[in-house]
Amino acid sequence: MPSEFELIARYFNRPVAPGLLGVGDDCALFPVPAGHHVATSTDLLVEGRHFYPDVDPQALGHKSLAVNLSDLAAMGARPLGCVLGLAMPRADDAWLAPFSQGWHALGDAWQCPLVGGDTTGSKLGLTISVTVFGAVRPGQALRRDAARPGDDIWVSGELGAADVAYRLLDGQLPADPQRLAATRRALEWPQPRVGLGLALAGLAHAAIDISDGLLQDLGHILAASRAGAELRYADLPVAASLDGLDEAVRRRAVLGGGDVYELCFTAAASDRARVQQAALRADVRVTHVGSVRAEPGVVVRDAAGRAMADLPAGFDHFPTAAQP
Ligand code: ADP
Ligand code: MG
Repeated sequence: MPSEFELIARYFNRPVAPGLLGVGDDCALFPVPAGHHVATSTDLLVEGRHFYPDVDPQALGHKSLAVNLSDLAAMGARPLGCVLGLAMPRADDAWLAPFSQGWHALGDAWQCPLVGGDTTGSKLGLTISVTVFGAVRPGQALRRDAARPGDDIWVSGELGAADVAYRLLDGQLPADPQRLAATRRALEWPQPRVGLGLALAGLAHAAIDISDGLLQDLGHILAASRAGAELRYADLPVAASLDGLDEAVRRRAVLGGGDVYELCFTAAASDRARVQQAALRADVRVTHVGSVRAEPGVVVRDAAGRAMADLPAGFDHFPTAAQP
């Protein structure tokens, strides 16, 4: 087993671009482009809560960075770098090698170098803490409070697969190896929509990445913007891997399922064509699923135009006693 410093040198100290100071000093240094603000965000991933102890370490390395890059994407920020805190029960090469590989492959893809971190032992399982830094022009940031009545509501990619995979693995749905095979990638290898966020910066109004469920995360935009929304259920982009599922399971996955890491964003209805062009440039499908309105609350309409009842709630780490 490597010592703390050996493992940092072996897995986390990589050459960085000229002008950056990466792993090895007391702090990392990186320049911020003129006229930009630093966008920063942090996420904790805790064993037993956010991932299973036996999850593929390469997928976990990917996902640990992906969920953080997703926050930069949802702000319209360009990645500058990231830091990684690891609390590990043991320093195991067989785990660290694939974990770091999954991490660095995604960091390289979005030019987000690992510039520092901290490594410690742990008596309570594995905890991964990731902080990302990005750059965005303040006037172009996709803030949650920027939705306006009349805006279109858009969703990138597809919904529902990660939730179904999670419920299958967790035993909340009856075992179905074929369905698990078709949905598991969405849960373990989410693709942060960094390119789309950049293409939408200065064009879209508000944005959020869907981590806790479409309704809950859209709810955050609406609360911050003091607005409401109407969604058309039949227009939501549902993953084909959900075909044939019981309607209640499907509905819960699509409207309430977390771990999606697609973007939900709003833009002026007059910018519909520009939004489609931005999505084309980013090579990501986007779907117009509803609109922002002045009246508070969210109405989801079925294909017949009726308001749907029994809408699912999203994930809450500290639910109050009143909730089931
Ligand atoms: P300090 O004592 O200043 O906290 P450390 O000995 O913890 O420094 O870390 C040495 C160097 O290695 C620092 O530059 C730190 O940022 C980096 N580092 C430590 N752990 C990690 C990690 N998991 N990933 C990336 N860099 C790390
Ligand atoms: Mg340290």
